[in-house]
Amino acid sequence: MTGTVVGTLIPVTVLQTSSGEELAGYGPISPGHAAKLRCVHSTLIDLTVVPEPSGGCRPALRLARWVRATHRHCRFPGCRRPGSQCDLDHVVPFPAGGTCADNLAPLCRYHHRLKTHANWRVQALAGGHLRWTSPRGRTYDTFLHDP
Ligand SMILES: [Zn+2]
Repeated sequence: MTGTVVGTLIPVTVLQTSSGEELAGYGPISPGHAAKLRCVHSTLIDLTVVPEPSGGCRPALRLARWVRATHRHCRFPGCRRPGSQCDLDHVVPFPAGGTCADNLAPLCRYHHRLKTHANWRVQALAGGHLRWTSPRGRTYDTFLHDP
């Protein structure tokens, strides 16, 4: 049988940042590549506009994508599991803390459970800075653009 070979479409995510466009998980790309990717099966996340808070406990899809893309990986000290594979944790538990960009951070399932059940505490400071306090009182800082 002859015919056109149809490849599998791999969904990609293009991030619109203040300095240009990036391919999620790869890095900056040219405007030409970004335009081509917009024509295929891709998701565009505009990181320059902070999404509106969600009304309930679960973040809206746009907010969830934005938080995962902005933080890029699990925010527990030393963990680098990609944000796309993480739960979204309320830094200040809901409903005392809102479901908004300033109060959500990706945590891998292991560290999400550690925070919830092993007496780790976290505090959100300005600019995406998180200060973690261990059960023994030692503090660790993580930042939004940690490698
Ligand atoms: Zn983690």
